[in-house]
Amino acid sequence: MDWTMAPSGMAQAANVVLSALLEHGHEAYFVGGCIRDELLGRPVHDIDLTTSALPGEVMEIFPRCVPTGLAHGTITILQDGWSFEVTTYRTESGYADHRRPEHVLFVRDVNEDLRRRDFTINAMCCGLDGIRVDPYGGAEDSVRRLIRCVGDAEERFDEDALRMLRCVRFASVLDFRVAKNTWRGLLRQRDKLAHIAVERVRAELERIVLGPHPQRGLGLLARSGLLPRGKAPFPWTGSDMAAAAALTAGIGDLQDAHLRWALLLHALKRSAFEADELLRAWTFPGATRSAVAGVLRVREAWDAALAEVPPGEPGGTEALRRRWIAAVLAHGQSAAEGWLTLLAALLAALPEAAAPGLALGAPVAGAPAAQRPNAPAPDDPAAQRPNAPAPGAFAPQRPNALAPGDFAAQRPDAPDIPALRSWTAGMPLHTLAELAVTGRELATVLHKRPGPWLGELLQRLLMAAAAGDIPNDNRLLLLEAKRMDSNEQ
Ligand code: ATP
Ligand code: MG
Repeated sequence: MDWTMAPSGMAQAANVVLSALLEHGHEAYFVGGCIRDELLGRPVHDIDLTTSALPGEVMEIFPRCVPTGLAHGTITILQDGWSFEVTTYRTESGYADHRRPEHVLFVRDVNEDLRRRDFTINAMCCGLDGIRVDPYGGAEDSVRRLIRCVGDAEERFDEDALRMLRCVRFASVLDFRVAKNTWRGLLRQRDKLAHIAVERVRAELERIVLGPHPQRGLGLLARSGLLPRGKAPFPWTGSDMAAAAALTAGIGDLQDAHLRWALLLHALKRSAFEADELLRAWTFPGATRSAVAGVLRVREAWDAALAEVPPGEPGGTEALRRRWIAAVLAHGQSAAEGWLTLLAALLAALPEAAAPGLALGAPVAGAPAAQRPNAPAPDDPAAQRPNAPAPGAFAPQRPNALAPGDFAAQRPDAPDIPALRSWTAGMPLHTLAELAVTGRELATVLHKRPGPWLGELLQRLLMAAAAGDIPNDNRLLLLEAKRMDSNEQ
């Protein structure tokens, strides 16, 4: 088969594997995501095969293989440095836990195998000759840009509740609509998400939020009501999510994954502490949690600065500059820059007329779509047009669409983003490691045993040097340390 969207080495190796199966008298096809992505002109990252050969027969043909999922008929074949999952045609039954089939039956007909797959666009396969087997209209749905279950949606989501999130994920990543019946089935089965492990939910959520059309997926998630029904705490109602929608309009423009999460949690009005706890409950790795919480801590420090330095106060700008520098030192340059990038995204998402003089702190209005009198029903396909703003969700239509605490509107006199960036850039140093004096030197010069005083003194010197009060010079820092120390006596 002529692959145009797969790396050529991978494509060649895949053709070798498929040919070998055919030469041994078995049926074999490329199947699933690779066919979908090839058809849509999207990069193909992995190529899966489906075959009439039983697992034992597959293993006999290929000397280099790993029985990765033998019970389900999956063997991983290693070929020319690439790996391919080859799975025996199978049907599934008895999904007692709404996740995994209890019984797997190997079958002889590829159409039977395609029937167990989740969506029509994922239920196509293709032979070596490039001819597609597509009994459920996957190619047509690709053209119509539609996610549609194979068979009865309600049943399919009941069998495996993860499919509901896969549905939202594919709609989001591909910017597709969800077929009316599929959406209706999802709404009926949404409580079943409680059966799915948090890690799996998180993995789908990551693909939505970090994908090319996060707004699309977040809008669908808000309207589906899925997440509050999962195992992990999700302390937001549909209306919180709808209100958050207006604030996250710029999310797709953020390149940094951590900033996307930070924007979402900011829009959902989480404190840095709460955000960290939530990310932990959602099983995010520590590095993600601390990066996201760091950005929100800068927000909190800056909000506190604006609250504590009254507008128009003489020397107010210098007081704010020092507060900003203190925040950069406390939370790191990358968190501080992250917050400014995020703030820029928030402001850019505002309608032009709404920018100056906003009454921030006013509640961010927005009832969920379903509660508004003229809003289309959630399963109204019109409401799911990929590029139409979702009703009441993820459309930055409201003028007061900044979160409480965003300074630009509260404080017309407050420094703008370029000013804050120039304050950061003007700092001669950004970390304690760059300070031209060590704790050991201070202890020696001041003839004192190291103790808590030392950390405090280092921080004061760091702040003085970062703010430009004294040069970052060993001799001058030691002099300043002596002065500070004698003032303490
Ligand atoms: P991607 O790799 O981009 O996530 P994919 O479609 O390849 O997309 P996989 O999870 O790799 O997704 O699954 C491969 C194929 O297996 C799918 O295309 C689909 O046919 C089938 N499949 C995967 N998960 C399910 C599921 N939960 N229910 C039914 N079929 C599934
Ligand atoms: Mg795949």
